[in-house]
Amino acid sequence: MELKLSQEFLTENDCYQAGRKIVPKGIMVHSTGVAQPDPQVFIRRWNKPGVEVCVHAFVARDEVIQTLPWNWRGWHAGSGKNGSANNTHISFECCEPAGHTYQNGKMVGYDVEKNEAYFQDIYRNAVELSAMLCRQYRLDPMEPGVILDHAGGHALGIASNHSDVGQWWPLHGKTMDDFRRAVRDAMRGGEETVTQEQFDAMMADYLARRGREKPSDWSENARRWAEEAGLVSGDSAGMRYRDFATREETIQFLYRYQQVTEGKP
Ligand SMILES: [Zn+2]
Repeated sequence: MELKLSQEFLTENDCYQAGRKIVPKGIMVHSTGVAQPDPQVFIRRWNKPGVEVCVHAFVARDEVIQTLPWNWRGWHAGSGKNGSANNTHISFECCEPAGHTYQNGKMVGYDVEKNEAYFQDIYRNAVELSAMLCRQYRLDPMEPGVILDHAGGHALGIASNHSDVGQWWPLHGKTMDDFRRAVRDAMRGGEETVTQEQFDAMMADYLARRGREKPSDWSENARRWAEEAGLVSGDSAGMRYRDFATREETIQFLYRYQQVTEGKP
């Protein structure tokens, strides 16, 4: 399914106002840590000064909303002993469904079965978005450190101590390794968007255009001979001199040649 992506930049956010650029080296996945599926709630809350946090996009169930230019520096990772993923990673927040609360960083009252379809939609959008960004910035999703969640960034010492998305995704059986593989597969899939039907139509168009091309001067005598001898007669598309001949047409030429040389019309 195609990614539904739109832009609503958080222009009033101090991070946007700072306007610092990065060279994206990876992607960091977050979840908001609150039961709120509507990205507009966060966009309203974050599009003002003094918020101290800013991501590049919100992944919702039925859409992705970009909130910072991809190569601008976000405020999403905090920092660890080795620095900050803010300087290297594009970030997005996955909106969590309604209905649960948190206690000590763990989801409480989260109905896995009821939220399975919601999760699958979020996951698919996150995969598609990450595949798009990896293509755009020529990132290999399988390379270590390229695709991380907040918790993975903390483990590498480039993010603050948060558990997202490990407090959520594993409830639906998804690890970050699953996610990296899904992004890799989505990138492969994206290269094969031409269907057989489309290919056939393009091939037919290509051959028709070839058929309309002007023949070369060097074949002029031969063409005149062939036409006068009745070897070629053309069809509704003309003589199609620059088109390819099928085996059928080739045999027909030979047959006519034999007829001509035997003196039969
Ligand atoms: Zn986070």
